[in-house]
Amino acid sequence: MNDKAHNILLINPWIHDFAAFDLWVKPLGLLYVGSTLQLFGYNVQLIDCLYNYGYPHKERQYGTKSFYSEQIEKPSFFNNIPRTFKRYGIPQEEFRKRLKVVPKPWMICVTSHMTYWYPGVFEVIEIIKSIFPSVPVILGGIYATLCLEHAKANSGADYVIEGAGELEVLKLADKISGKERDYYNVGKWLETEIVPAYELYPELDSVSMITSRGCPYRCSYCASFLFESKFTFRRPENVVAELEKYVKVLGVEDIAFFDDALLVDPKRHIVPILELLIKKGIHPRFHTPNGIHPKYIDRRLARLLRMAGFQTIRLGFEGTSTAVQRASKNKVSCRELETALHNLQEADEGRIIDIGIYILIGMPGQTIDEVVKAIEYINRLGAKIKMTEYSPVPGTEEFREATQLCPQVVDEPLIHNKSTFTTVGMGVDYGTFDEVKAMAKRLNAGLRDSLHA
Ligand code: SF4
Repeated sequence: MNDKAHNILLINPWIHDFAAFDLWVKPLGLLYVGSTLQLFGYNVQLIDCLYNYGYPHKERQYGTKSFYSEQIEKPSFFNNIPRTFKRYGIPQEEFRKRLKVVPKPWMICVTSHMTYWYPGVFEVIEIIKSIFPSVPVILGGIYATLCLEHAKANSGADYVIEGAGELEVLKLADKISGKERDYYNVGKWLETEIVPAYELYPELDSVSMITSRGCPYRCSYCASFLFESKFTFRRPENVVAELEKYVKVLGVEDIAFFDDALLVDPKRHIVPILELLIKKGIHPRFHTPNGIHPKYIDRRLARLLRMAGFQTIRLGFEGTSTAVQRASKNKVSCRELETALHNLQEADEGRIIDIGIYILIGMPGQTIDEVVKAIEYINRLGAKIKMTEYSPVPGTEEFREATQLCPQVVDEPLIHNKSTFTTVGMGVDYGTFDEVKAMAKRLNAGLRDSLHA
């Protein structure tokens, strides 16, 4: 039964950046916190600054969208970057209006995403504090975890928590309200069985979800292990029950998997999930924006992915150069990538699946020639090139390399912005970087034309 005296407000803050798109992204961690609090008797509300709430935006393919945005002043640190800076998400006035109409909160939880988006988090907390000065504000999420001291010193939050937040926020809410419970069993159960509180949204046409937590790999530029130290799967029947609810109850047509390692140990995990989905006739469009591991895609798995309705597949490759392969701990070879692609293309005769291959650009030690070679290689394979701009992530091996190049990355998370750091990492100017991006775009357009000819 909900405890009406204990209204907890969840807030997904704005993004301040040069560019941002809604590729099925939802604040999954915050929604897991929401369902945990609800399960243990708290009354929960949500304001998602990145949900459009009727504000103008462009609908794109398969439930992806542009965010509503407004131009804002660039932090002076970015003055040399010849691009427009924006606040992505609902207008500030709409946020204030929503704060005034929600049931008066007793505690407020704010999440955070990329480290260099912290100005949007601070703006949200400043407004909250101007309206509810005595309500405790808890800050969690990616920025809070990776830049803990920066967040404690500067965010204005009353509590800053690290890592997966469900149990920590529950403990904090219980402590403030004077409740006690056995957290050992709660923690065990939360690890695998809880689902995000999507019912807090007015309406949804797409959702994101995870079927596992953590990743068994240790790429030197990735902080996955700082959020989940061990790799765990959920039970296939629970995953399928969650998917069935989204399709049949929420009516969503597009579902994106945000697992770090969706395909690892396929016989025990993804294969039974796909077989059950096919057997039950549950057929939304599935997307893997996070990139999946090519080495696991044999002919059988490729066929199952196609039959289950995978529409957008992104393969994690990163690049052909020694520096990038070393940083990725050789998680995929060119041969494994080519085999996976062949298996997918063979299973998808009608070329319905949109297949793209990620390559990394801007990592310290990488040269522009190496990036160009990787781009040409992907194009020769007949797949779309998807470029991921490198951003140094605190706590990773690669971050230490970044501090050699630019010692300020330690104290100023704005420098982690991929628009800035890509040029620092490779020692090139914006013009060169834009030319490489234009080249990839041209090759992708040529590929699209040849497929439709
Ligand atoms: S980059 Fe991907 S494969 Fe590598 S550690 Fe991170 S989540 Fe795992």
